[in-house]
Amino acid sequence: MDFRLSEEYEALRSSVRSFAREVVAPGIADHYERHTFPYEIVAQMGKMGLFGLPFPEEHGGMGGDYFALCLALEELARVDSSVAITLEAAVSLGAMPIYRFGTAEQRARWLPKLVSGEALAGFGLTEPGFGSDAGGTATRAVLDGDEWVINGSKAFITNSGTDITALVTVTAVTGTNPDGSKELSTIIVPSGTPGFAVAPGYSKVGWCASDTHELTFDDCRVPAENLLGQRGRGFAQFLRILDEGRIAIAALSVGLAQGCVDESIRYAKDRHAFGRPIGNFQAIQFKIADMERRAYTSRLAYYDAAARMLAGEDFKRHAAIAKLHASESAVDNAREATQIHGGYGFMNEFPVARFWRDSKILEIGEGTSEVQRMIIARDLGL
Ligand SMILES: Cc1cc2nc3c(=O)[nH]c(=O)nc-3n(C[C@H](O)[C@H](O)[C@H](O)COP(=O)(O)OP(=O)(O)OC[C@H]3O[C@@H](n4cnc5c(N)ncnc54)[C@H](O)[C@@H]3O)c2cc1C
Repeated sequence: MDFRLSEEYEALRSSVRSFAREVVAPGIADHYERHTFPYEIVAQMGKMGLFGLPFPEEHGGMGGDYFALCLALEELARVDSSVAITLEAAVSLGAMPIYRFGTAEQRARWLPKLVSGEALAGFGLTEPGFGSDAGGTATRAVLDGDEWVINGSKAFITNSGTDITALVTVTAVTGTNPDGSKELSTIIVPSGTPGFAVAPGYSKVGWCASDTHELTFDDCRVPAENLLGQRGRGFAQFLRILDEGRIAIAALSVGLAQGCVDESIRYAKDRHAFGRPIGNFQAIQFKIADMERRAYTSRLAYYDAAARMLAGEDFKRHAAIAKLHASESAVDNAREATQIHGGYGFMNEFPVARFWRDSKILEIGEGTSEVQRMIIARDLGL
């Protein structure tokens, strides 16, 4: 058993770490403040090959694996989560369904531009009326001749409304299964299709430089061949995508948790109270020690889940454990880092304020903490 990284993984980690410090850190606070999408940073991430990390070279990818993506997400989130979630959603939720389930034509048409980062794809599962209970899907798609006609709406869809968004994969009810349950399928809807409307961006508490919209489909027609994979496989498809995505969100959470440690150490050495640096007080030292413990154990949990996934083993429970532990650790670390910064921690110009605002969603997106506990309990036979 060896959790040390290979030379290739170390090289990737180090180049993303430098990029995050030298390119993301100086520019992101302004985008966050103005709620604008960081196109210039995303373009550079594309040039570095980050959007292609887990995809084979035949599709324009870097020939790496899902763990490589996770390492990059951790390093980005150590500095900023809006940029990290943009990459996570683009790769894990956007391009991955096309790669995993798409036909040869769909892969050839969409993957090159998604994998290069020239274009982004959204993953349309959540609706205004449901999130955790995906069986509640109300969006419908009816086959009319050689076209699907889609009606319904989707909520909180990441990367769905940027200038470079090429498509959204939409989960819809396409019929009824023999047991009476809803038949769910996934359909590719290219941006700009008549009847597909993107609402203005939400006003969010955090992830303010990432792109999130409500989408509506009003008699939106797409060709029958836009069905992703097999009809009726929508449920199984999004479960697979979300299981993997939980490891990625765990990695992103570890990055945020570690970023809180970085900023707290820096501040604790600098800030003086009662004639000494606050880092000399044991109360502050213990807070930082606990923050490091949470980041470290969360990292081990996502490394383990990723290793199981890459070995082709069942990884559902371990991905849920990693996501649950890492996201709750991120929230705890952000709260403590803000506390260590005192009043300055409440000022947006300090990175910990951004970490605090960005941490809460980690316990909600891609399955809430309650959903992770349900998955773990179910897997334990309860
Ligand atoms: C910024 C942002 C970006 C997002 N990006 C995307 C995206 O790209 N694509 C996408 O499809 N979705 C996206 N989402 C949606 C996200 O995945 C959902 O918000 C999340 O899954 C929770 O669903 P919900 O909001 O409907 O909450 P609900 O499911 O309504 O849950 C409300 C509360 O009830 C609890 N609850 C529900 N059922 C149970 C139960 N059985 N037992 C115990 N507690 C329960 C939940 O844990 C939660 O605390 C995004 C959300 C946000 C905020």
